[in-house]
Amino acid sequence: MKLQTTINTNSEYHRFPTSEGSHIFVVDGSRIYDLPVEMTDTEALGLFSPILPRYIDYQPLTPPAIASISLNVAQACNMSCGYCYADTGKFGGKARMMSLEVAKASVDRLIAESDPNVGLVIGYMGGEPLLNRAVVRETTYYATEVAKRTGRRIRFSITTNATMLQLEDVQLFNEFPFTVAISIDGDKQQNDAIRRMNDGSSSYDRLIAGLDLFKRYGKPQHLAARVTVTPKTGELLPILNHILSLGFDEVGFAAVLVSPDPSLTFSPSDFDVFLQNMLVCGEKALREIAAGRSYAFGNLETAFSEIHRGSHRPYPCGAGAAYLSANAEGKLFACHRLIDDPEFAMGSVQAGTNIEARTAHLAAAHVDLMEPCNGCWARYLCGGGCYHEVKKRGRVGCDYIRGWLDFCLRAYIELSSQRPEYFVMSNQGVGISSATTLAV
Ligand code: SF4
Ligand code: SF4
Repeated sequence: MKLQTTINTNSEYHRFPTSEGSHIFVVDGSRIYDLPVEMTDTEALGLFSPILPRYIDYQPLTPPAIASISLNVAQACNMSCGYCYADTGKFGGKARMMSLEVAKASVDRLIAESDPNVGLVIGYMGGEPLLNRAVVRETTYYATEVAKRTGRRIRFSITTNATMLQLEDVQLFNEFPFTVAISIDGDKQQNDAIRRMNDGSSSYDRLIAGLDLFKRYGKPQHLAARVTVTPKTGELLPILNHILSLGFDEVGFAAVLVSPDPSLTFSPSDFDVFLQNMLVCGEKALREIAAGRSYAFGNLETAFSEIHRGSHRPYPCGAGAAYLSANAEGKLFACHRLIDDPEFAMGSVQAGTNIEARTAHLAAAHVDLMEPCNGCWARYLCGGGCYHEVKKRGRVGCDYIRGWLDFCLRAYIELSSQRPEYFVMSNQGVGISSATTLAV
């Protein structure tokens, strides 16, 4: 029987073929159905009149209780990567450190404005957060003690360049439930071409020394690698294989859209190359997983996890909703990339979150209110794009996002048939933070 090869796409449905047959992705509710391959698109679409009430009803979200807060404990860095959107953590201002008093107030604010039944996350960001190691340590102790006293579950994350890792950090990340995300861009040559220490020396060598500490003294609960991809990066599969060989639990790619150096930012045509490279990595992951081997390609794992749980949401991430980020003085912003941007100011840890600002943000950001997103089949998986990137660059990667999600849907169906137990396992193992978006 001939496979259905046409793809009919409108704003409510996306039809796609796999080696298993023909399928339709119904946008509202992120539902996937098998279809007879001979069924025409017109017949298929006729089967799916809108279900009422809709899962997503065009009503903006009311600001929920907060569940996650990131602390910019060091608005400074010991590196100066060419593509850094954060101005090495300074966000256009002065280098500065968060005091322990502000960090503790952030913990208290999270406890005060969260749902007692929901697990909480505290993230340490920068700049390079380990420049303020003592505050990371003391805040972790304090948050753990307050959580215990108030009967709350709490876990931690840190995003670091790993060039300053010491034994005491590794012990802290092992003693408490930490996700550690490390920035690395490839092998020594690739990484050091753009990620150098402030004195010009190799950051790769230091990072490898940090990873060695994890090997000797134990890894944290989850050790992730974050690869920043520029138009100059080249093939991604060798990078993925190399970084996986270093012992990470997961490796994910993110394209540069915002950078002080325009030559390092993606144009629409760069996304065509990026998509081809991502598909090569995706196909490799598919083969490995289907054969029963582990291959922790983070972008694919995230997409699988969201598709499997049937995620449908009218926002790209939790920014301004259940997730906020505090600057060094305790002022709150929608997220860690929007630090010190008055357009995304949302209160302070001392005075409380600004409900009016959060309400206005969520009302304006609903994906169904935005062109061209309201005509896009991917909108309840993508959410309309990262607020920071859309503000600075507009929506330049939409064909990439849809192409990648189309592949992920196909891969999900094929793997569900070949290894159904994989999704039971991976859904338990892969943590999705409230800041996660499928689009980056
Ligand atoms: S940002 Fe692009 S891909 Fe995402 S929902 Fe909007 S139009 Fe679709
Ligand atoms: S997707 Fe963008 S806006 Fe959302 S949390 Fe991430 S960086 Fe912030």
